[in-house]
Amino acid sequence: MFEIIVNIMALMTIDLHNHSYYSDGVLSPSEVVRLAKESNCEVFALTDHDTTNGLDEAQQEANNQQIKLIHGVEISTMWSNMTLHIVGLNIDKDNPTLQAGLTQHQDFRKTRAERMARSLGGAGVVGAMEKTRALAKTDMLTRTHFAQMLIQEGICKDMKSVFRRFLTGKKPGGVSGKWAQFDEVIEWIHAAGGVAVLAHPLRYRMTQTKVQRMLSHLSNAGLDGVEVVTAHSTEVEIALMSKWADEYELLYSCGSDYHGWDNQRVKIGQLKDFPNPDRALWRKW
Ligand code: AMP
Ligand code: MN
Ligand code: MN
Ligand code: MN
Repeated sequence: MFEIIVNIMALMTIDLHNHSYYSDGVLSPSEVVRLAKESNCEVFALTDHDTTNGLDEAQQEANNQQIKLIHGVEISTMWSNMTLHIVGLNIDKDNPTLQAGLTQHQDFRKTRAERMARSLGGAGVVGAMEKTRALAKTDMLTRTHFAQMLIQEGICKDMKSVFRRFLTGKKPGGVSGKWAQFDEVIEWIHAAGGVAVLAHPLRYRMTQTKVQRMLSHLSNAGLDGVEVVTAHSTEVEIALMSKWADEYELLYSCGSDYHGWDNQRVKIGQLKDFPNPDRALWRKW
């Protein structure tokens, strides 16, 4: 019987990392939920950057569509002077500790956006703030919005080049992070009754040794899981991450990081097979 359940779970379509226009996604929460339903997703999480504001609308549509919605959020955080992303899943979005933390990050995003606009202005981009605001559906401004603005203005041709030429490091529009430390962010998520999952662990431009050090530190700080399967994972990467997840006692999660951009091939719920359903994070749910 146990094995049957485990096998069924292996076949389920689950996607625990998705964005709406409440952060840097293109679609509304309702549209994202409808897409998840059309993609036969049984379990689906909305995880906007540093905000839970899209979850009410998403929940309403999830009720209409009869799909299980996991309330989530992707929180920016500092580890060893680098920015990482930790996804909080199954959170009580109204928890005051979590919301106080997210408000702090939303405030930082506002001052950061002003600094980015000023720095882009210095590089000859006129009216960066107004043009970027005009593109955003809410008052949350991410680097993605600035990127879209620079593409729309014809200054860059695509996302890849815009992040390379602007918006990173010492480039115009590049600003260093000042997010809360990883242990604090994990505490916010736990305070809200959620589980804390490291997002896209192989996308931080680190050596393998450093990735392992990161997993070890985060696990010691109470991290619950890690994304073992992401949209671009290869079989080799999935095997490697599973091994490390076991080593650092982390549960496995999976998510596409869907944003809905035109040129993004990523689709909700279309992920490689989950390696070990026994270690699935959602087994607790
Ligand atoms: P922010 O949280 O405002 O710093 O914006 C980070 C977001 O920018 C990430 O969540 C990605 O969606 C996007 N992003 C970062 N780097 C790149 C890149 N090289 N190409 C495309 N999108 C990127
Ligand atoms: Mn994003
Ligand atoms: Mn991310
Ligand atoms: Mn994401």
